[in-house]
Amino acid sequence: MTYIFPGRSQPAVAISGLDTLFPVNRIYCVGKNYAAHIREMGSEASRDAVCFFMKPSDAVVTDGRMPYPPGTGKLHYEGELVIAIGKGGANIAANDALLHVYGYAAGLDMTRRDLQLAAATVGHPWDTGKAFDCSAPISPIVPVAECGHFANGSIKLWVNGQLRQDADFGDLIWKNNEVISELSKLYTLQAGDLIFTGTPAGVGPVVAGDRIELRIDRLPKLEVMITAS
Ligand code: MN
Repeated sequence: MTYIFPGRSQPAVAISGLDTLFPVNRIYCVGKNYAAHIREMGSEASRDAVCFFMKPSDAVVTDGRMPYPPGTGKLHYEGELVIAIGKGGANIAANDALLHVYGYAAGLDMTRRDLQLAAATVGHPWDTGKAFDCSAPISPIVPVAECGHFANGSIKLWVNGQLRQDADFGDLIWKNNEVISELSKLYTLQAGDLIFTGTPAGVGPVVAGDRIELRIDRLPKLEVMITAS
């Protein structure tokens, strides 16, 4: 059988230092993973359950140019460490979880904050606020063999040269291995999955013409220009 029309091309992310690409399967995201960010959003930190949500895999942006999305007057940046899964599995023990990591990248969980908060207020899903076209700009992925893991390390984000986010992975509420383990209790993870691990305090709005720069120790810098829609 052939398809009635051509399917989309496989979303993919560059791998630092290699000519081959990382094919993206699913994009999972963690919300509420730094206490100071939870406070700035008006709520309290908790270890009761990880807050998971998703973005479509074709939301990745790899050319550093993100068009301002429709339907919002409040586009926010969220700088985040991204885990790239290299080996799938279900019910992965926290102690084994880092063996499933292929590498890491710097990513932006771009958010239509007005839509997210309006949805949360009436108990609707976050999807329109989080899971939209071009909402996942990402740097090339660095293999673990080169960058190691990220129990600690600095994450900093600038908008037009002004420092807006400045934190350390030591402050994560759910550590990377715990995130992988908890997620694998809910979904069968696959090689090609990306996990955005949550943003620290200092989120804020951007408009067309703004330049976002995200720097994570041991990873390539991610630079994104917001362009007119
Ligand atoms: Mn986020």
